[in-house]
Amino acid sequence: MSSNLIEVLVPIPLLEKFSYLLPKDLHSNPPKPGSRVIVPFGKRTLVGVVWKIDTEKGNKERKYKYIKEILDLEPLLDKESLELADWASRYYHHPLGEVISYFFPPSLRKGKEAKFLEAKFFELTNKGEFFDLAELSRAPIQRKALELFRSKKEFSQISAKAYGISSSALNALLTKGLISKYTRELTPYKKQDKSSVGSGKKKLNEEQQYAVDSLNKAKDGNTVFLLNGITGSGKTEVYLQAIKNIISQGRQALVLIPEIGLAPQAEERFKRYFGERVLSFHSAKNEREKLDAWLGASKGLVDIIIGTRSSIFMPMKNIGLIVVDEEHDLSFKQAERFRYSARDMALYRAKIKNIPIVLASATPSLETLNNSLVDKYKVLNLTKRATGAKLPKYIPVGLRGKELHEGLSDELVGLTEEELTKGNQVLIFLNRRGYAPSLICRSCGWVSNCERCDAHMTVHTSPLRLHCHHCEAQKEKPKSCPSCSANDFQSYGYGTARVEEFLKKRFSKFPVLRIDSDTTKKKDSLNSYLSSIKEGKPMILLGTQLLAKGHHFPDVTLVGILDADSGLFSADFRGSERVAQLMTQVAGRAGRDKKPGKVILQSYCPEHPQIEELITGSYETFALTLLEERKSAKTPPFSFQAKIQAESPNSYISRDFINDLLISIKKNGALSKELRLVGPLPSIMEKKSGVFRWEVNVFSTNRKSLHEFLDLSQALLYRPSTSKKVRWSLDIDPISVM
Ligand code: ADP
Ligand code: ZN
Ligand code: ZN
Repeated sequence: MSSNLIEVLVPIPLLEKFSYLLPKDLHSNPPKPGSRVIVPFGKRTLVGVVWKIDTEKGNKERKYKYIKEILDLEPLLDKESLELADWASRYYHHPLGEVISYFFPPSLRKGKEAKFLEAKFFELTNKGEFFDLAELSRAPIQRKALELFRSKKEFSQISAKAYGISSSALNALLTKGLISKYTRELTPYKKQDKSSVGSGKKKLNEEQQYAVDSLNKAKDGNTVFLLNGITGSGKTEVYLQAIKNIISQGRQALVLIPEIGLAPQAEERFKRYFGERVLSFHSAKNEREKLDAWLGASKGLVDIIIGTRSSIFMPMKNIGLIVVDEEHDLSFKQAERFRYSARDMALYRAKIKNIPIVLASATPSLETLNNSLVDKYKVLNLTKRATGAKLPKYIPVGLRGKELHEGLSDELVGLTEEELTKGNQVLIFLNRRGYAPSLICRSCGWVSNCERCDAHMTVHTSPLRLHCHHCEAQKEKPKSCPSCSANDFQSYGYGTARVEEFLKKRFSKFPVLRIDSDTTKKKDSLNSYLSSIKEGKPMILLGTQLLAKGHHFPDVTLVGILDADSGLFSADFRGSERVAQLMTQVAGRAGRDKKPGKVILQSYCPEHPQIEELITGSYETFALTLLEERKSAKTPPFSFQAKIQAESPNSYISRDFINDLLISIKKNGALSKELRLVGPLPSIMEKKSGVFRWEVNVFSTNRKSLHEFLDLSQALLYRPSTSKKVRWSLDIDPISVM
């Protein structure tokens, strides 16, 4: 029995792997691991992926079902992809069947063919070549068509039409055997002349050159590089030139970027440099484009893939280098279901492949910084701006007791005026979209709380409505106060839309571009904003973190940070790290080119040591202080962390669920002394989207004991007897407490 069994992964949130029988006529030619098959599953049929052949002994008691169909004769995933999936499934404690589905684009998950678009072609046969044309004298149209075939040899269906060959003529020639028909895949990718690659490259400064040389030397081993360069130091230029070297050896590069909004720009910069065999990959691509990119990369027809988080799963025929740009960025971590970190998976992928990987950032995460301090990573420093510009000057502005103009101090308004008049651009940063964070009743103190979340609903204008940014609930602004019936509302606090209103009035001669997720919902709208900024006319750019990431705005000379305090007093131990990264990134948009830049940092507590550190020191000195704090608190990166969260419509049920789980784990002896448990506690936002959330956070300096704990937790959580009233999640290396 054993020789006919095949282990198949199905995209189902269950831990087991399922075995199927191979039909007799396929015994001599079984499907290979990494190819897709169709299998019955309960009452359904599913597309599964062959995992192992012949491994299970077979259980006589059990009735196995037959594989229904083999979809791929050759495996679609190579050994390394299978190994990466296996590792990720064990590391993140997520079912392998779901993990493996991330390696396929949607059409392949649905079982469609792994092919480029196909087209019909017609080709001259031998018979057609030597056929006596006189025999067609009574069929002049066929004769004319045959003559065309003799001069061109083949036509696609479309080009035949363009040449005036009718389908009846084609059919007649086919019947007579003068031409034959076949279908062919049309690859959208062309061969490229490698000599044109790298045109327009810049002459590197000494530090950049050293970095490129180091990367070039490392091509045949798994070295992890931290490309630690201040904002505008030419990090991109460095990895572009390193990629050039990789491509000239006939290998491929994968570049991960944090934000889909950055993809078109990045693709354009890469195309200018490398020509057409560059492709961006992200969620906004349609199914066909995703499949084409996937096929192009896995067949080695594309040299470079630039993409967001999910590109880490992209198979590549001959990958030679991975770059993770802005490696500190939170978007590399998926926040639901399979909670992987694309950066960490990239590190493992590079290890399996034995290739170098570059983590680039002006504000490296504390994990990465620590790894470079203990010499696990090799650091390449870029300490100067590539254009020769200086880092901007910080001007702290204390806000206590000051009259503000919708959040702007007199100082900021004055300097904005000055810079605009000089013909420069000003960037105002506020990480809060909408008009105002809450609506209050001035008569009784009622506040616009969300009914489903522990949060206020944000006031939005045009149209005037209340939105919850946590559960997406929306409603009309009430006509009168729900609590006291008065009609005396006030929008409390300010968001980008409110600041925009003020700026437009105050600086009416200049355009104000508000850039946040509300104004950039439409496809390509961010891109059109970015191109109008590039024109360089004086204007105000106002926005959220969308504006802070990676952009190069040569004409911005003043950056105003409206609220440097938000995040400083956060309950999350990672809060300070985030603020420092965000502030440094935002500030880094100023003075990147010929004109020097200034940064106004508004704060209610400018004398706060962390704000002072940011102003007088650098991100790095700040981060080193934070690392010391983490070390004494034994929080990551000085320990490993996992979070188990439970949610249900009833707070007690969620609490008891976590409690009971911990009791079972204790009974089973997997609660080692090396583990530090924080919780069960209600999550910081306990109520969200109508459910109540409790969690336990587990810290350990010993990865093995944490893994034992998680293995057992996972086994208990996936038991069929686990309460269905509760939704739970396991998060390894969580990045937020929300
Ligand atoms: P980063 O990725 O570090 O933010 P970029 O690579 O985008 O920096 O470079 C910032 C600006 O400096 C870009 O306009 C880039 O074209 C320019 N630049 C980069 N390297 C050089 C160089 N060696 N000489 C002149 N300009 C450079
Ligand atoms: Zn009221
Ligand atoms: Zn809500």
